[in-house]
Amino acid sequence: MSTEESKLKFGKRIQRCYGCFVAFHLKDMYLGEDATYFCEHCKDDTMFHFDDFSAVLDLSSMPSLQPDAD
Ligand SMILES: [Zn+2]
Repeated sequence: MSTEESKLKFGKRIQRCYGCFVAFHLKDMYLGEDATYFCEHCKDDTMFHFDDFSAVLDLSSMPSLQPDAD
């Protein structure tokens, strides 16, 4: 799977915000420390938007981003 394909696939995954517990698409979320995810309402300046961290990290190596077994 190419990096771009991985990004698109993971971006469509649903993740619950650690701050407000509302579910969002990963592509709209921000990565905090310890692989926590936050929505745009709960993020702070230390977090990286999906577009940013997906460009520099190997998404397939992130345990919390492993594809579902479907
Ligand atoms: Zn939130």
